Amino acid sequence: MWTLLAVYGIVTILSGIFLLAITGVFGMVIGLIGVIMLVLSVFLSAPKSEQPDDQSKKYCTYCIAEINKTDITCPICQTEQ
Ligand SMILES: [Zn+2]
Repeated sequence: MWTLLAVYGIVTILSGIFLLAITGVFGMVIGLIGVIMLVLSVFLSAPKSEQPDDQSKKYCTYCIAEINKTDITCPICQTEQ
């Protein structure tokens, strides 16, 4: 279950219904894309964020340098983690 994709799918379906009243077939196509997103969200799981191979390391949230998990500030850019 990919919750965010399901939410975007529902929003797309609602946009499709809105556009259906204005543009006709184009709105139907948008609504269909929303249905596909909703169906896919049930079968797919959310992608995991990239993690370093070394378990004692993590990526700096600012400069994406590989730093120790215990570091409070990044030794390269000095940003607090
Ligand atoms: Zn950094």
